[in-house]
Amino acid sequence: MRNGKRMFGTNGVRGVVGERMTPALVLKIGAALGSMRKGTIAVGRDTRTSGEALAHALKAGLLMTGCDVVDMGILPTPALQYIIKTNRFDGGAMITASHNPPEYNGVKVIEADGTEMSDDEIIRLEDRFFAAEFDAASWDSVGTETAAPDRLEEYIRAIVNHFPAGIGEGMTVVVDPGSGPAALTTPIILSRMGCRVHTINARLDGTFPGRMPEPTPNGLKPLSEMVLATGADFGVAHDGDADRAVFVDNKGRYIEENYEFGLVEDYVCDRNPDGLIVTPVATSRLIRDIAEKHGCTVDYTPVGSIYVARRMIELIGKGDKVSFGGEGNGGLIYPDHQFCRDGGMTAAMMVAVLAGHGGRRLSDILDGLPAYHLVKEKHHARDPAALVRAVEEAFSGDTIEKIDGIKIVRDDVWALVRASGTEPMIRIMIESKDPDVAETMYREIMQVVTG
Ligand code: MG
Repeated sequence: MRNGKRMFGTNGVRGVVGERMTPALVLKIGAALGSMRKGTIAVGRDTRTSGEALAHALKAGLLMTGCDVVDMGILPTPALQYIIKTNRFDGGAMITASHNPPEYNGVKVIEADGTEMSDDEIIRLEDRFFAAEFDAASWDSVGTETAAPDRLEEYIRAIVNHFPAGIGEGMTVVVDPGSGPAALTTPIILSRMGCRVHTINARLDGTFPGRMPEPTPNGLKPLSEMVLATGADFGVAHDGDADRAVFVDNKGRYIEENYEFGLVEDYVCDRNPDGLIVTPVATSRLIRDIAEKHGCTVDYTPVGSIYVARRMIELIGKGDKVSFGGEGNGGLIYPDHQFCRDGGMTAAMMVAVLAGHGGRRLSDILDGLPAYHLVKEKHHARDPAALVRAVEEAFSGDTIEKIDGIKIVRDDVWALVRASGTEPMIRIMIESKDPDVAETMYREIMQVVTG
């Protein structure tokens, strides 16, 4: 693996409950975290049926190392991150499997500043985990637990106060939290901004009866229908822990996430020009087009939101101006709010985007953006790294960037070829304004891949 982690992936550790993901495993993660971050730790969870059992195990691990625990109950990951950052907790952990199906669950570890734990610290945590190196507290210094399930107001207020009062007046929106924790936040945020809000899948339910936690165009068909039926200006949906938001426009069309990024980027950069936009190498060239329009420059990172967030912090620390950051999957990061993806903030931002266009329909705004054609494929490989090297060699006459895997860059097309970190697989992405050019590039790469 690129970064030397053994158990954790890009966004925490995940697995099927009762198989890989058990209370015994989570107890040890809690004990390892508690041994590293002595103090008061905030714990939250999404709506999964296994959340309560795993949260108890996590808390037990933390308490036995002498940490105090504040249980925030069910809430979006970015809400937990915001509360940790603003209330000076010593760290936190979220029981969630984000967009995975209901049988999965997992743990995301949060630092005191609200960011997800870095690779280096995760490796330290894993070392403790595998060596069972836990600082068990003596009987008179075991931690105590308090419950604080009603802390969402500060998160909601922080987002609402980010925008002029009543900015959403006259707008109708439909919110689909997918039975996840955003049901507790996004409808309130949008109605306090002045919007008329309808909801679908807004009852907390870890069996996800309406749709799966991953918001896909297919899963969002009922949302699209409701947008059309109510004449709404847009529909917004979240993944299972609401750090991401995706949208359908007023015509009920799913907005590809790079276009969502572009719409919000255009709004943010208009008010914050000449800065850096931080995003992974896999993001559409649309992001660069819009950055350049505002005198902004794009800074590319490896794929993964923690690399984007950490790079934004690093650049700001060096005195650089960072206007905005995010991924092309609906995970957007607002540097003047917090350094993590925030789906609730992104939902609110779309209201501001639309208000900024003064009465234009979202569908018209989208149709005015340049059209890019994206090819996304996976290919099985016994030795993914060797295959990536072979592609690099075959394309050595082209410009190659090596931020994550290899990116072949030509004037009218780019292609990204990466080894998967978790499966014997390579991932291929190709983008061009001309579908034929993208297809030709794909065939060129596949000739090398299939030998
Ligand atoms: Mg998520």
